[in-house]
Parts: sequence; C-alpha cells; structure tokens
Amino acid sequence: MNRFKVVAALLLMGAAVGDFVSAAALPAVPDSIGQWAGREGKISPVAVRDVRLEGGFWGPKMRLYKERTIPHSWQYMGYNLRSLHKAAGEVTDGPFNGTWDEANLYKLLETIAHSIGMFPDPELERKVDDIVDLIGRAQRTNGYAHVFIINEGKPEWDPAFLDGSHDGYVLGHMIEAAIEYHANTGKRAFLDIACRAADEACEHFLGPGGVPGFCGHAELEMALVELARATGRPRYVDLARAFVEWRGRGLVKPVSATPRSYFQDLVPLRQQRNLDGHAVRSTFFATGVADLALATGDPDYRLAANRFWDSVTLRRMTITGNTGPRHEHEAFGEDYELPNDGYYESCAACGLADFAQRMFLLEGGADSVDVLERVLYNAVLHGISLDGTNSYYQNPLSDANRVRYNSWVCCPPNLSRTLFQVGRYAFACGDRDAFLNLFVAGTVRLPMGGGWVGLRVDTEYPWEGRVRITVTPGKVPRFAVNLRWPGWCQAATLSINGVRVMPIPRTDRGYIRLERDWHESDVIDFDMDMPVQRIEAHPMIKDCGGKVALQRGPLIYGIEGVDNGGRATPELAALPRFRVEARAQMLGGVRVVVGEDAEGKEFVAVPLYAMANRGKSVQEVWTSQRGWKAGAAWWEGRLYRVAGEGMVKAVAPSPTEADGR
Ligand SMILES: [Zn+2]
Repeated sequence: MNRFKVVAALLLMGAAVGDFVSAAALPAVPDSIGQWAGREGKISPVAVRDVRLEGGFWGPKMRLYKERTIPHSWQYMGYNLRSLHKAAGEVTDGPFNGTWDEANLYKLLETIAHSIGMFPDPELERKVDDIVDLIGRAQRTNGYAHVFIINEGKPEWDPAFLDGSHDGYVLGHMIEAAIEYHANTGKRAFLDIACRAADEACEHFLGPGGVPGFCGHAELEMALVELARATGRPRYVDLARAFVEWRGRGLVKPVSATPRSYFQDLVPLRQQRNLDGHAVRSTFFATGVADLALATGDPDYRLAANRFWDSVTLRRMTITGNTGPRHEHEAFGEDYELPNDGYYESCAACGLADFAQRMFLLEGGADSVDVLERVLYNAVLHGISLDGTNSYYQNPLSDANRVRYNSWVCCPPNLSRTLFQVGRYAFACGDRDAFLNLFVAGTVRLPMGGGWVGLRVDTEYPWEGRVRITVTPGKVPRFAVNLRWPGWCQAATLSINGVRVMPIPRTDRGYIRLERDWHESDVIDFDMDMPVQRIEAHPMIKDCGGKVALQRGPLIYGIEGVDNGGRATPELAALPRFRVEARAQMLGGVRVVVGEDAEGKEFVAVPLYAMANRGKSVQEVWTSQRGWKAGAAWWEGRLYRVAGEGMVKAVAPSPTEADGR
C-alpha cells in the first residue's frame, strides 16, 4: 500500500485532514521524472523550434498569427503592464488587472516565445526582455509573483480564497511562458523568475508548517511537471502531485455558490469517474493528471487519466471537439448532454488539445491523435477569426445571427499559444520511432538514436489526402517511420520510392509502421481517399437525433445562411450526392461542399473553422435528411461514426459514400 492509500485509509477512519495530509505524507518522487513512459517505449514530444511549418495549410497561418495576431494582442496588455509597474513600486495610474486576467500577458509571452522560435525577431525579443525585467522587479523578495495579490496587499495563497484567487493559474501560465522563452532564445532570466516563484509555492505548501490546499483553477499542475522536466528538479512534481492528491478532501472552501465539482474537488482523484465541473479547469486538470502519469509512472494516475479520457471523448464532446455545454458554471453536463446551442468555451478546446497530446504520449495510440486533430482543425481553429484578430468565447454549433465579439477575455492568447504548437502536436519520436501524427507541410528534425532524423512533408492536407514524406536519416540508418492512419480514413494507398506497399502494415495502435534501413531522400507516398462523409451521432445525444453532419478528412462542415439565401437548415435528399469545389477567393481559400436538398436544390457547406467570418448569419452543423434515422446498434466505443455504418456492419459490405472528390 503506497502512502497515498495510507492517507486515504486514515481519512476514511475519521482522522482529521490536517493531521495527515501534509508535506510529510507525500511520497518521494520516483526516478522516472523527465522520462516519457509510453506503452510501447518512451515517446517524446518535439520542440516547437525543431519544426518548420512551410506552405500548405498551416504555413500561412503561422505567418498570420505572427504578423497580425501578436501585434493586435498588445493593445490589451496595458492593464497587465500597469499592474506590474505598480507592483514594482512605481507610481502608476490604473485601471489594473484582476485576479485571473494577468495570465493573459503570460499566454501572450508564450505565444511570442513560440513565434520567435519560428520567426526570429530581435526587436520583439527586446520588448519581451524589458517585460521580463519588469516581472522580476514586481516579484516579491520571497518569489511570490501574482501581482493582483501583491497590489491589493492580500495574503499569498489566501486560504479563504483559493477557489477563486487564481494564484496558481497565473503562475502556471508564467512558468509555461518562461520555459518556452528559455527554449527558444536560450535566455535564462525569465526561467529563473519562474523557478523562484515555483520555489515559493513549494515552500508555502510543502515546506515546514506547509498548508495543504490548491488553486481552484487547474493549470499549475501541468506547468510544474514541465518545469521539473526543464530543470531536473523533482520537487516541482511533488507539488503537482500534492495539488492533485489534496483535491476532494474539503481543503478548499468555496467562497461563492459554486459547487465543489466546479474546481474538481467533489471527491478524491481515485473516485473521480468523469470530467465534471468548469470545462476549462477540468480539461487542464486532466492534462495535469496525464502529465503526472508520464512523469511518475504511477498506474493510478494513468487509470484516472484514461477514465477522464473515456468520459470526455466517448460521452461529452461535440463532433467539433468542443466541451462544456452548460452556461451555468461554464460546465460539463451529464453524459450525452451536448446541445447544439451549448456554451463550449474556446479555452476548453485548448485544454482538450493538450490533454489529447498527453494521452498519445502516455498510450501511444493514434485514436488520441484523432481527437487532437478533430479539436485543432475544428474547435480551436473556429475560435479565432480568419484575419487573426478576433475570437469567439462561446462556440455553439447552432447559431442564430451572432456576431463575433472581440472581448479580450481568456481565450484569444490561449488560442494563439495553442495554434503555434501545431508543429509540436504533429510529430513525436521514440528511440527508434519517428511519428507523423498530423499531416502538416514543412520539415522537422527529430532527436533519435543519438543523432537526428529529418522528415520533409509535402501536402495540401486537409484539402487533399496526398502526403509525400522525404526522409533524411542522418547517421541513424535503421528506424521506423510511423504514419498515423486517421480514424476518418477508410481507404488509402502507400508506396516507398514509387513501389506500392501491399498490404499496408498497420499496428493495433493505429499506425503504419515502416521499419527499415532508410537512405537519404527516400520517399514515402501516402494517399488517403477523402470523400465527403455523412456522420451520425450516438442516439443518446438528443439534439442530433435524426440528423447528419458533413465531414471531409478532418474538417467538419457547416451550413451558413449567407451562402444559402438566409437559411441554414436544408433537408438533405434521401440519397444525397456531393461535390467538392475549390473556392480560392472565398474565406481565405477553401474547398466547399455542394450538396442537394430534398427538393433538388443545391446548398453550400463551408468548413466549420471558417464559419462566422462574414457578419451575422445563421449557422448549423447538424442537418436533417429525408427518411434518415440513425442506427441504434454497434455504438460501442464511439460517439460519432459514418452514417449507416452500424446497420451495414450487421450485413456487410461496408458503405460507399457519394463521393465528390
Ligand atoms: Zn477562455
């Protein structure tokens, strides 16, 4: 029985919490810190700076976020900078930032750190250096750095306000920004500031006379694990572990009317079945638990992460990868409670993207990356406008005449820091395995086998299913290239140096694993069929009953009034046919789907990520089809599937969609 179980047993025996849940009760951290213990051997993420996204779908977007989104973001940083000046003892007029919003500055600094790794910019770097200097001057001498609390003269980690004060949330984002700034510039000053602040937190919670508790908005947990990895200091994992273990024990008093589930405190971790409560806090919390599973190898964390994963991906996620349908408390609902007019905050999509990446690192399965891809190409990308300067806070799938609002809340810099990590999400490596998870055009260098392996990817994905990979093995001649076979893909061809590979070797983890002696400029061609697919939802999702959604490759399509005479609810023909058309001048260059309704009239559907960019317009993702009824059987392990698959499974052969390639 490990020490946590001893603590839990003592608690069940009626012992007072404060007597036992203390720093002394936390177990020593195992030696595995900093290693990645995936099921099939270690899998490591790549550094953002080792990926160059060029051309294709993402290259221009990275440039847009660098040239438009970052300059636009500065105008919202005034109150954060004024607060830092005030905390540094300078005479400054307000207004100043509140409890949580100073995290926006750190999310922007992380965005910039990624950007500098991709696009060196000495002037921007100097600007950040000045702010880092200011942060250092605002920091208390003991290391504490939440300037709202400093400026208000409130107590650090106020035990009466832990559910709402956001000390940990803000510190978590500072740590992540500092790690990335160090990684991309080699400069240590910011990382040193973050370490001093993290050391203060360790001392406060774990030191002599330490006070058990945790910040009500998760974020610091995953940041601490990353900081341990970046610095080699296991104490940061101790603290992340304490924050996770101390939940569900009544240590944090809610000061408002929020339920304990709001901040994942209803029951201890080992009793938590589902992701509940505030969707952003909850997905960040789950990511922290998965990070702890990776860092410690503790099977309890791995089990918990997998329970949370099943909860969200099999029962609580929209087809677009959004979560958190309830307006009240911005929360998850019951299983299958996924209304089309739900809340669905953009930050929760960012949290799910991170959680999905960690689950891939933990379990090594392509199914985790299917979710990551769904979230990135749909929920996350829909959150930010096509011009990079506007954003959605809420993301309903059914929307009547809403205009995008440009309030600088938490989401915009979270979206930009997430999108700049597409390259990190796209690739991974083990000792002898290179993983191509997302099909992004560009180059990557992967540290493998004591050397470097280079991959060049040429593709127009997600518009086309053709992907060409050119291998540069360096001094690592024998290794495996692992291509993800996407969950949406039902047929594909593969060739190496022009020679067809048949049958395609697929692993039970969802990869095409190609192990051989690779030579300079070897070429892999992977060509996925990319028809328009009609998707049906699990029959327990009430709002999707009798409806279908359109998907092509990883992109979910929706229907907007602006393209369809003010209506967004065509009834599809009983046997619908589709064709795909390239519209270079529309919405920044998209492929639209042209379909036929029951009256024989054509309608146009556009990629969800590009919707709501042309002023007010009704929009729908799910639409009815004449005579259509979703099957009730064969839903095990799935929330969405190609329409009719369940019925066909019983009688075979597999269905053929009307194909408009
Ligand atoms: Zn947000």
